[in-house]
Amino acid sequence: MTDPRRLPASASVVVIGGGVMGLSTAHHLARAGVRDVVLLDKGGLGSGSTCKAAGGVRAQFSDPVNIALRARSLETFREFPRLFGQEIDFHEVGYLFLLDSRPAVTAFEANVALQNDLGVPSRVIGVDEACRLSPLVSTDGLLAAAYSPTDGHCTPESVVLGYASAARRAGATLLPHCAATGIDVRDGQVVGVRTEAGTIRTDAVVCAAGAWSAEVGSWAGVDLPVSPLRRQVLVTGPVPGLDPRTPFTVDFGTSLYFHGEGHGAGRGLLLGMSDPDETPGFALTRSDGWLPRLGAAIERRAPALAEVGIAGGWAGLYETTPDHNALIGRADAVEGFLYATGFSGHGFLMGPAVGEVVRDLYLGAEPFVDVGGLSAARFAGVDVRPELTIV
Ligand SMILES: Cc1cc2nc3c(=O)[nH]c(=O)nc-3n(C[C@H](O)[C@H](O)[C@H](O)COP(=O)(O)OP(=O)(O)OC[C@H]3O[C@@H](n4cnc5c(N)ncnc54)[C@H](O)[C@@H]3O)c2cc1C
Repeated sequence: MTDPRRLPASASVVVIGGGVMGLSTAHHLARAGVRDVVLLDKGGLGSGSTCKAAGGVRAQFSDPVNIALRARSLETFREFPRLFGQEIDFHEVGYLFLLDSRPAVTAFEANVALQNDLGVPSRVIGVDEACRLSPLVSTDGLLAAAYSPTDGHCTPESVVLGYASAARRAGATLLPHCAATGIDVRDGQVVGVRTEAGTIRTDAVVCAAGAWSAEVGSWAGVDLPVSPLRRQVLVTGPVPGLDPRTPFTVDFGTSLYFHGEGHGAGRGLLLGMSDPDETPGFALTRSDGWLPRLGAAIERRAPALAEVGIAGGWAGLYETTPDHNALIGRADAVEGFLYATGFSGHGFLMGPAVGEVVRDLYLGAEPFVDVGGLSAARFAGVDVRPELTIV
């Protein structure tokens, strides 16, 4: 726990959550000249979902706002070492969605057209080309694939380190192992954030608490419909002959995905799959229930992997919203309460752009993309636009 004597008495803004969203936001606020930015995390920086992520970064989505946020973030990931002096092991190997049903092909054709209009160089390709790009793939039942060469994957821990160092250099105070325990609101205005080490006076708070955001919102009477859902990943032992250019490959029909992990002769794969039997909750124990379904998907789509040993794995939490779109905005009823959460399993890749957007919302400036449709208020009415995604 933070020594109460080290806790700032006041702050311009308190960011709750030290994952990629909170850190990117704190960095952008401090870089913009906002003084006394304080960030709290109940654990270590990145210890929530961020450092559990598979590290996939892509602009292949089905909604224009999501595409714009992701494309902007990709630019930052590509330039990260130059901008932040931090290597993040960005592999620009592309993302490959394998499609085995006519409706999926039709939907991806429409998505690709939209992505191309927005400058994303994705394309629908034939099965032969897909298998050339990702040689472990079996063609069984495949009709086509969607591929974007500028997507890829990188290392979440390094991104956390890069943003944390940059935020500190810009003057932000980062307090890991200091849990927020409440938010004080007076006459509809945020006036303070309570922590386990004391209270910080502030008139602005950013909820970037990932899977824990519903509770943080409730302290201020703001409804943030985010629920935690466990996801598991496995890391294999070395895969002999693995092509280092293997894209982040997703079997859209089953949600099985894999990408290269590690270096040199020890290079293996990180792989995962959704579990439709998973129910909301904060449990992080690893379970075996999903393994038979995973095994069946591997047998069908990448049979060579059935022979590869498993070296380890972990479980993390998706922070899901009812329509699988993020919640980004300012609360209507509580002045000074901002939120960036509910990324529904795709937040790592949105962190860079969302930090810029939250900075602008705080400063009252126009963000580079209109995020009005991502307001939490949308669940109070109509107009839900589900994102077409499974991974
Ligand atoms: C297995 C797995 C694979 C994934 N793969 C990908 C991927 O390939 N690409 C991708 O884009 N995304 C992926 N994701 C999703 C991604 O990890 C999340 O969307 C993203 O990390 C969310 O970032 P965040 O900063 O909003 O949340 P988090 O990283 O969870 O940060 C929230 C922080 O808030 C802190 N907190 C909570 N309550 C309090 C409190 N009361 N006081 C202080 N601090 C508090 C937590 O400790 C936590 O560190 C994956 C997730 C999982 C689980």
